[in-house]
Amino acid sequence: MKISIDRLKIERKIELEYQDSQFQDKGLREHTLGPLNIKVNITLVGNENVRLVGEIEGEFELVCDRCCENFLQHKIIKVDTIFEIEKNELENRVIYIDSKIKDMVLTDFPMKTLCSDNCKGICLKCGVNLNKEKCKCIDK
Ligand SMILES: [Zn+2]
Ligand SMILES: [Zn+2]
Repeated sequence: MKISIDRLKIERKIELEYQDSQFQDKGLREHTLGPLNIKVNITLVGNENVRLVGEIEGEFELVCDRCCENFLQHKIIKVDTIFEIEKNELENRVIYIDSKIKDMVLTDFPMKTLCSDNCKGICLKCGVNLNKEKCKCIDK
């Protein structure tokens, strides 16, 4: 998704509503099953910045850092961020929205992704997933 800077200067505020498939790549740690639903307003702030306000919604398929199981997380990320217009954007007279969406999604994820706050993880001795089974190591 690209937005013309000249159009933005005239309209001041542009409402965007579209689907974004950049996170459907399974190679990403944070990948989605379907496209992201993007609903954001973009406005100019001075001559050198743009502000993006709105919501990014998607169904992320993640791997728990504690038990290593895949799990789904439906996320609605509320955003309100100001970006400096980059040099190549100024040269091309367009704002590249996709890279900004990517930044906002990635910064919303914690360093560790957990399937649940009280995930019990894996037994370090026998490798059993302690959310699913009780292992014998603990009983002893
Ligand atoms: Zn887990
Ligand atoms: Zn065990």
